[in-house]
Amino acid sequence: MKGITKIITSVLMIVALFISCGSKKAQKEDLNILFIGIDGMDWEILDPLIKQNRMPNFSKLVRGGASARINTNEANGSAVYWTSIATGQHASKHGIEGFVVEDPRTRQLNPYTSDMRKTKAFWNILSEKGIGVGIIGWFISWPAEAVKGFMISSYYTISDTEQLTWKGTIYEDTPGMVYPPELQGQVDGYIKSAREKYIRKLSQIINADALRENDKVVRETKWAFLSDEIYHEAALNLYREKGTRVFAVYLEGLDVVGHRFTSANNEEQVRLDAKYGQVQVKYYLYLDKVLGEYLQAVGRNTVVMVASDHGLMRGDHTENGVFIASGPTIKTSHWCPEQITLTDICPTMLYMLGMPVAADMDGRVFVGIFNDDHLLKNNVEYIATYGKREMVSPAPSKSQFDEEIVQRLKTLGYIQ
Ligand SMILES: [Zn+2]
Repeated sequence: MKGITKIITSVLMIVALFISCGSKKAQKEDLNILFIGIDGMDWEILDPLIKQNRMPNFSKLVRGGASARINTNEANGSAVYWTSIATGQHASKHGIEGFVVEDPRTRQLNPYTSDMRKTKAFWNILSEKGIGVGIIGWFISWPAEAVKGFMISSYYTISDTEQLTWKGTIYEDTPGMVYPPELQGQVDGYIKSAREKYIRKLSQIINADALRENDKVVRETKWAFLSDEIYHEAALNLYREKGTRVFAVYLEGLDVVGHRFTSANNEEQVRLDAKYGQVQVKYYLYLDKVLGEYLQAVGRNTVVMVASDHGLMRGDHTENGVFIASGPTIKTSHWCPEQITLTDICPTMLYMLGMPVAADMDGRVFVGIFNDDHLLKNNVEYIATYGKREMVSPAPSKSQFDEEIVQRLKTLGYIQ
């Protein structure tokens, strides 16, 4: 009997060894990432709302994952920040140094365009390695780039109608918004659907009287909210339908309302709350519902990541930006005492996918979020570089709206 037990035990051990090797390999090959970028989300506001049980989906994500404060190791605003997140490099390398740039041919200021980015974003790196990506609404992504998968870009645009949007949005009548172009018809449907619903949804965020009065800050919020709704509608549907291995969506509205409806001045804050309601808090609650929709749709073996580029409280950017990751290989209910930087996100994603990090990236793998066991079995591997982009434009691509856009940015005080 003893001999048979020994044999059975050895067989079981060998089988177990095979299963564990197999599952480890499968996990690395299959691991997916769903990345939700939220401009201006702040732990100082998010944390109390979670504790008051008002944000059940963020609560679930935080409990099931690892969280950290993000260090905005970059200057000059969101266009730069989100490019640094995408490339793992600072502006000195990726070349997107602000919202606008002087066109050397005309000496006019124009918004940066994606073809001016000198280095590869994670979607370029992954596409070249045959990994499918879906990228929705990312800052400085127009014209849409040819990726393995699809991209719905973000475009600063302007008009005298309600279409006007703040940081960027998508328009049916502008070329280069969508890659591949065959997707345009489907995207037009999402735009239409979002336009039909957004005012009703916004009435949950801004007081009805103020929404009707439609003053400047309300109009600006409408643009940003419509933009978030369009990208969210497109992202959720495309994620459900196509579920690429790495899927990323960027939402801008929280930053826009934070700047307009909160103030360091207490009297001003009382006035804003009385007139518009607690718009910033309600936008957090809206984003919790948005996150809940993704969590319902999320596929197996997926790390869900939420990151903001900086925090925003009382009308000003803070250093309390949010980073949360949850899923296979990630610690649970863990608060990382160290800060993650903007440029750490791209290398961290590559490591998650079992790919080497490039030594010319300024960030490093943020190891604090990973299970010890995973770190022991998976060393961080390096290569010198993923190379530069082959076609880099020295000047921004032209759009019919450029001058009006710059005027708009000036009026709003985002540029001088
Ligand atoms: Zn901001």
